[in-house]
Amino acid sequence: MNCIVCKNSNNNLIYKNLKDRLHQDIEGKYNLKRCNVCGLIFLDPQPTTKEITRHYPSEYGVYNSSSESRKKFLVAKWINNVFLKKENSNIFLKAGLIFFYYKLAHLPDFIKSGRVLDVGCSLGDRLLMLKYLGWQVEGVEISKKAAVIARCRLKKSIYNSTFEKAKLPNNYYDAVYLNNVFEHFKKPMFCLKKIRHILKKGGQLIVVVPNSSSLSFRIFKQNTLLIDVPRHYYTYNENNLTRILKEEGFIVNTVVYSNCFSSFSSGFALLLGKKVDYFKLLDKMLWLMGFVLDPILNVFGVGDYLIIKAEKVNK
Ligand SMILES: [Zn+2]
Repeated sequence: MNCIVCKNSNNNLIYKNLKDRLHQDIEGKYNLKRCNVCGLIFLDPQPTTKEITRHYPSEYGVYNSSSESRKKFLVAKWINNVFLKKENSNIFLKAGLIFFYYKLAHLPDFIKSGRVLDVGCSLGDRLLMLKYLGWQVEGVEISKKAAVIARCRLKKSIYNSTFEKAKLPNNYYDAVYLNNVFEHFKKPMFCLKKIRHILKKGGQLIVVVPNSSSLSFRIFKQNTLLIDVPRHYYTYNENNLTRILKEEGFIVNTVVYSNCFSSFSSGFALLLGKKVDYFKLLDKMLWLMGFVLDPILNVFGVGDYLIIKAEKVNK
């Protein structure tokens, strides 16, 4: 298989016969390759639709956790008012809240009464936060169970479908938000074309993906959940993701790296052959350390997650 970004056939097999680390009793072994030109990491061969469906059982993590933390909402409001409203230029406030910013840098830049679509909205946690901030919210969710819960919580439009098949209006959204979703798309270019159609001109696309240049990927290699075989068809870095966004008619305005340590505890656990949540306490400690270290490691581009905010422009 050629690289989908640079079309090159020059690649290396980096890991062979990997199993689903979250559900180890599910059959199937997968190979990962890395493009030697742009660095894209991809599954080759790619699983069929029938095969991949097995790897999203009802106990898949994102459909079982939910938090409506009031404190988190308040922090989101500060971040929104200080960093995400274009008119705010108070550098003292910005400096004071910089340590919080990296935890919520993934939120879309604020537009009063703007309409946002969360693709892969799960139980609607992020949409609840965005609604609280003043957005009109809608979501797309592939799991029927999660979509029903999200619809009940939000009293808003939640499309129960894959993003590819969802019937969405054209030139309608001010922001389309993909948080840990883009890497699950088998046909990312098709999805970007669709996003261009549904966004208004000047609308914002927010993509949050695992970063293949991250510190934890370099340390834990095939034991990091950032590659999450076989659910992640592709693992991107800043260069290759920026390139496809530009080719599909977006300009990239913001690049931020966040949660520099979030995959360390799972990396240690998998390395030692333990369950993924074995070092829960370490996870919390690293998350707290992130308040101080995220802004520093962001400079080197080695955070676990890459956040790109791009704008729809005429091609
Ligand atoms: Zn490539």
